[in-house]
Amino acid sequence: MAPTRANILRGEYGRYRANNDLLFYHLDVRVDPEKKLISGKNTIRFKMLKDDTRIQLDLFANLAIDKIAMGDATLKYERELGAVFVDFPEPLRTGRTYSIDFYYSGTPTQTSRFGGFTFGKDPAGRPWIFTACEGIGASLWWPNKDQWHDEVENMQLSVSIPNDLVDVSNGKFQGKKDLGDGFTRWDWLIQYPINNYDVSLNIGKYEHFSDKLGSVPLDFYALPEDLEKARKQFAQAKGMIEAYQHYFGEYPFKKDGYKLIEAPYSGMEHQSAVTYGNHFANGYLERDWTGVGISPKFDFIIIHESGHEWFGNAVSAADVSDMWIHEGWTTYLECLYVEFMWGKEDGLKYTNGYKPKVKNQQPVITTRGVNATPPQDMYFKGALFLNTLRSVINNDEAWFSLIHDVFQHFKYQNIMTEEMVAYFNQKTGMNLTPIFDEYLRHGALPVLELKFDEAAGTVAYRWKADEPAFDMPIRVGDKDNWQIVKPNAGWQTLKTPLKKDDFAVATDLYYIEVNKQ
Ligand SMILES: [Zn+2]
Repeated sequence: MAPTRANILRGEYGRYRANNDLLFYHLDVRVDPEKKLISGKNTIRFKMLKDDTRIQLDLFANLAIDKIAMGDATLKYERELGAVFVDFPEPLRTGRTYSIDFYYSGTPTQTSRFGGFTFGKDPAGRPWIFTACEGIGASLWWPNKDQWHDEVENMQLSVSIPNDLVDVSNGKFQGKKDLGDGFTRWDWLIQYPINNYDVSLNIGKYEHFSDKLGSVPLDFYALPEDLEKARKQFAQAKGMIEAYQHYFGEYPFKKDGYKLIEAPYSGMEHQSAVTYGNHFANGYLERDWTGVGISPKFDFIIIHESGHEWFGNAVSAADVSDMWIHEGWTTYLECLYVEFMWGKEDGLKYTNGYKPKVKNQQPVITTRGVNATPPQDMYFKGALFLNTLRSVINNDEAWFSLIHDVFQHFKYQNIMTEEMVAYFNQKTGMNLTPIFDEYLRHGALPVLELKFDEAAGTVAYRWKADEPAFDMPIRVGDKDNWQIVKPNAGWQTLKTPLKKDDFAVATDLYYIEVNKQ
C-alpha cells in the first residue's frame, strides 16, 4: 500500500526537518475546562545544520495558528495537512541558533486508544484533563517538530489551569504562580532529551505523596478517593526501579525524578511522569497477561510503562519503523523483572507465555520514513528474540554485561536498529546481523529441519530461514545434557543415539519452529 501524503509529511525526515537540530522548547499553554479550549505558544530554539529559508513544524489542521514570530518579525508560513512550513525572510545560517514563538489555539481532538487530548471528568464529576498521543502524534495538541529523529535537549512546560486543579507534567516541579484571574500556572523543567509524544498534561483534583529511592525522588499522584489504594499498589515502583537499575544502571532521569500518576486509561510511558490506570490491581486490567500464573504477582502497567524509562525514553528509536527498540526491549524488561524477583525459571516461563500472542505474519520492522507503526509482534516477538539472543551468547554474565553496556552506550540517543546491531557485533566479536535480520525483518520464524535415520543413528539438520546467511547455533538432543550445533542453510549430519521422539530442541531458549521428519 502506498503511503499517504499525510504519512509522508509526518514520517519523512526531509530537507526542512533535517536542516535543523532541535535544542529547546518552552511550551506555555492555558487550558480552560469550561470552554474546552487550549491556547498559548511554543518557543522553539534550534540550530541550523544547513543554510536555508524554511523549516517544517507540525500542528493538526483543526488548531488555529495565531502567529509565528522571530523576535519582532512575524513570519509567513504554509500549512499542508498536519505540516506547517515556516518561511524566513533571510536565509538562516549553518551553525547559528534561532528561536521562534509559535502561537496557537483551539480545541484538540479526543481520539485514538488512550484519548489523544481529553477534556474529561473523574468519577466524582470533577474535571480530569489528560494527553496520551503516542501514534497519533504530539502535534495533535501542541506545535512541534513531530517526528522521532530529533529531540530537544531540554524543555520547559508552563500550564495554566483553574486554581482548584493540579497539573502533573514531565520533569522537575519548579513551582506555581497564581495569575490573579482564577488561573494558576504550574511550571515544570525537563532536564533531559524527551520524545514529543512523552510530553504530557495530567490535570485533575490530584492528591500527592512522595518517597525516595536512594537519591531518586519518587512522587505519586492519585484522586482523593483512590489515595489509599494508590499508597498500597504504587509501593511496587521501588522494587521495579531496583530491578531495572540492577540490570541497566542508574534510573536515567534522576534530576527530574520518577512520578506515577493515576489516569483513566491503562497507562503510558510519559517520561518521568508515567501514567497509570490499571485498576490498582496486579496483572493487566485484572487479567493474567501471559497466562502462565506469573503476571498476577505484579502490576503489569507499573512494570511495563516504567520499563520504558530505560528503553523508549532514554534509548529511543529514530523512526517509528524501529519501535521494537521501545516495545520489544521493554517487554523483555518485564521478563528480566520477573527473573530478578522470582528467579530464572519464572522469568523463562513468563517470556514463553508470550508465544501465543505472536502472529509471525509481518516483519517487526516496517518501512522507514512513512510513519508506519509496526505490528504488535514488536512487543512479544521482540522480547522472545532478545531471549533467543541471550541463548546465542550462551553466558549469562556476558549477556547481562552486554545489555547493560547497550543501554549505557545509547542512553539519551535516538537510534536505528543498524546501530544497535553494529554495537552487538563489535562487543561480542560475532556477526549477529543475520540473526537480528531474520527475527526483525521477516515475518516467518526460522524453522529447524531435522531428518532422522534411526537405523544409522543419525539426524540431518539445517535452517530453513529467509536470511540466507542465518546460522544461529542451537541446543539439541538430550534436554539434561544439551549439545550445541550450528546449522546453516545446507544439510549437516549428527550422530545421535536418540530416536526421533526423544530428540529434543531447546525451544524455550530459542524462539523457532521445529520440523521433524
Ligand atoms: Zn510499551
